[in-house]
Amino acid sequence: MTILEIKKYPNPILRKKCKEVKEITKEIKALARNMVETMTESEGIGLAAPQVGELKRVIVVHPIRNRSLKARDETNPQAFINPKIIRKSKEAEIDEEGCLSFPGLFLKIKRAKKVVIEALNQEGKKIQIKAEGLPARVFQHEIDHLDGILFIDKIPFRQRLKIRKKLKEIAKQYVFNRLFN
Ligand SMILES: [Zn+2]
Repeated sequence: MTILEIKKYPNPILRKKCKEVKEITKEIKALARNMVETMTESEGIGLAAPQVGELKRVIVVHPIRNRSLKARDETNPQAFINPKIIRKSKEAEIDEEGCLSFPGLFLKIKRAKKVVIEALNQEGKKIQIKAEGLPARVFQHEIDHLDGILFIDKIPFRQRLKIRKKLKEIAKQYVFNRLFN
């Protein structure tokens, strides 16, 4: 297994739309495994493929906090391929979110409280997941990543002005890493 480099804001890859996975190849399985490893190492609870530089519709979600995740194996973090939100509750919740591509930034984001997700598991089997609360939030956040949507897009303009300084700091680190690594 390999720990992958997490692409940080404002890496342009984070704004690209990901392609559907047509076939679950060895490479896709390896990507999913490495993403799980990378997420665990970074103490994240979710990670999307563009965050590790792959424009493929693959996300991983950590199950420990996924108490309402109704999938087969709850002991290991799981990969979801071509995930889609097929139902969303009107009821929404505001809670704090972070993102591994934005170190140190936490924002209160409004999301649907419950979602139903359809995806393929790593064996290529179609699965449906009902999620509520935190896991529902993680799924919505990660699926947004597959369309180039970031959590900073979800806050009102006035709040965006408030985080300008923090965003600049993250961007500065990004430029530094590009120059010296
Ligand atoms: Zn994120």
